[in-house]
Amino acid sequence: MVASSVRVVLRARPSDHGTQINYQSDKKGVSIVQQKVIEGRPGVQQPGAQNYQFKFDNVLDTASQEQVYEATAAEVVQGALEGFNGTIMCYGQTGAGKTFTMSGGKQNFKQRGIIPRALGQIFTEIKSRPDVAAKVSIQFLEIYNEALYDLLDITTQPHEISIYESSRGLVTVSGLRTAVVGSEAEALALLFEGETNRVIGEHQLNRESSRSHSIFTITMELKPIGEAPGDVLVSKLALVDLAGSERVSKTKSEGLVLREAGHINKSLSILEQVILGLGDKGRDHVPFRSSKLTHVLKNSLGGNCRTVLIANVWADAAQTDETLSTCRFAQRMLRVTCEVSANVVQDSSARVRQLERQVQELQQELSM
Ligand code: ADP
Ligand code: MG
Repeated sequence: MVASSVRVVLRARPSDHGTQINYQSDKKGVSIVQQKVIEGRPGVQQPGAQNYQFKFDNVLDTASQEQVYEATAAEVVQGALEGFNGTIMCYGQTGAGKTFTMSGGKQNFKQRGIIPRALGQIFTEIKSRPDVAAKVSIQFLEIYNEALYDLLDITTQPHEISIYESSRGLVTVSGLRTAVVGSEAEALALLFEGETNRVIGEHQLNRESSRSHSIFTITMELKPIGEAPGDVLVSKLALVDLAGSERVSKTKSEGLVLREAGHINKSLSILEQVILGLGDKGRDHVPFRSSKLTHVLKNSLGGNCRTVLIANVWADAAQTDETLSTCRFAQRMLRVTCEVSANVVQDSSARVRQLERQVQELQQELSM
């Protein structure tokens, strides 16, 4: 077992118009200054400023998509190829760049996000290993107002998909299309299909995508072939684009918007409780079942899983409140430490690689 914290990385999207947020950063933290009206002597208000400091594992300010991938996902994906489950989540307000980070921009190849790059890494590794037979499968799920939608099957109605938990705590989402893919191109085609369905859902079925969570799951089974076949290495990689974390003011919204906001606030706050609960050894109840998001992700959080949280912020002065709120959330996640172990490792070469990694991690810890 390896002790591993939830890695928390801040990514700031530059302000494209308007005033840049008053903010300074280095590789490990940010300092944000917010202009405020403060009360001096009773009844006398004057302009002032409040300074906030946050520390993270990494701050990616002007990073390219490739740099973001290397700093957040590459290691988790490599771990998944060695039998460790992994989860990468993007958290932040609408417009902060979560979908850009996860899926990427459409303009050019360089703008590819984490999901296409992860698929690239997986299939490149598989091709380079003639000693293993690999099976890769994909599911793409959307959670909107606590209902589940299959993004790989636009015709499916929400009630047909349900979450099933075995007595051993293994969670499966039944009724969801599981597509076995034999190549990167096939997998990318499915990603594109799911993204298109997300947009169709938005326009035709009134499911606002910024108000929904999407989970792209890649399941890998790697089986050694040849003279001495070993056991299968099974792992799951969950790539999650969370719903916008912005608070909706109760006075301004009503009906559907308020209902959406309620569901999002609840599921994000349960996500927080679950992650904090997993890191708290003294706690025996972790409220996975309290929201669809955490229930679906039950096997992908804590326990056997490496987790990276990308906190996406929008570095525009007008967004300072939401930026502070995202930084606070991310800061709370930083303290969490869980234990991870590979799912099945009897294939000796993977075991050797795993041990090499552990030695490396221990050496790094010692040199800190
Ligand atoms: P979210 O999914 O958090 O609501 P998006 O990913 O849709 O936000 O991003 C909002 C807009 O900002 C999109 O047009 C996107 O292309 C752009 N954008 C986001 N992050 C960056 C970035 N790091 N660099 C350049 N443009 C970005
Ligand atoms: Mg989005």
